[in-house]
Amino acid sequence: ARPLPPLTLIVATTPSLGIGHQGSLPWPTLKADLHFFARVTKRPPPRPPSETLTYRSDSSGISPLRNAVVMGRKTFDSIPANFRPLKDRINVVITRSPESTSLASYQENKDVIAATSILDGLQRLQEQHQDLGRVFVIGGAEIYKHAIGLQECKRVLWTRLSGEWDCDTWFPDGILVDGIEEGSGTANGWERRTRAELEDWVQEDGVGGLRKEGDVEFEVSMWERG
Ligand code: NDP
Repeated sequence: ARPLPPLTLIVATTPSLGIGHQGSLPWPTLKADLHFFARVTKRPPPRPPSETLTYRSDSSGISPLRNAVVMGRKTFDSIPANFRPLKDRINVVITRSPESTSLASYQENKDVIAATSILDGLQRLQEQHQDLGRVFVIGGAEIYKHAIGLQECKRVLWTRLSGEWDCDTWFPDGILVDGIEEGSGTANGWERRTRAELEDWVQEDGVGGLRKEGDVEFEVSMWERG
């Protein structure tokens, strides 16, 4: 069997790792971060040079890979109806009840996969999509926790907001550590990569470092298992 694809978690938190409140995000819309999320989760990975050659010689032309986003059923429900499924990405929704009403209307859509675990979702992705690119885990708390326990989970893209808001849901402890500088390891085997490594992986310049939108300061960092 082919190895399952690696997972990248993508999350925005307050300094105390709050991620949710009453089924949605705790803070007012942060456009810059929502746009970053959309660009990064849509952008296909670079092809290895050997594969590029194979593709160029194929008369059917170059078809870009498509990424997938894996989320909990509650996070899927939290996306406004006119924005879901998230477009230009394969949506994998994790639920103990794949027949649940919020998913039933998407049964015909092959870009929406209901799965009973993350591993089940990854297997279905590989079976059903030959053009699979990167796989992102986009929340919420239950699904982040589930993902962190898997060896496929290799990387976290973290947007840390400067302010606190009322939260009832938090990112699991033990990976993201406030105040850790680039290149200095953390006790549990996760390490913060440099800004250059972040920008290289997301294939975009200018996204590292402290940024500001209105009154809210935020900073994106990349963490990988050491
Ligand atoms: P989740 O989105 O993690 O969804 C939970 C659901 O996932 C469960 O009810 C169940 O669905 C299913 N599920 C969880 N674990 C398993 C498992 N092991 N096997 C099968 N199914 C499973 O919900 P949370 O409440 O944890 O998080 C939602 C909150 O997080 C919201 O407030 C949302 O806005 C926020 N959020 C924040 C993000 C950020 O970056 N700040 C990103 C994403 C979400 P079912 O009940 O159908 O069986």
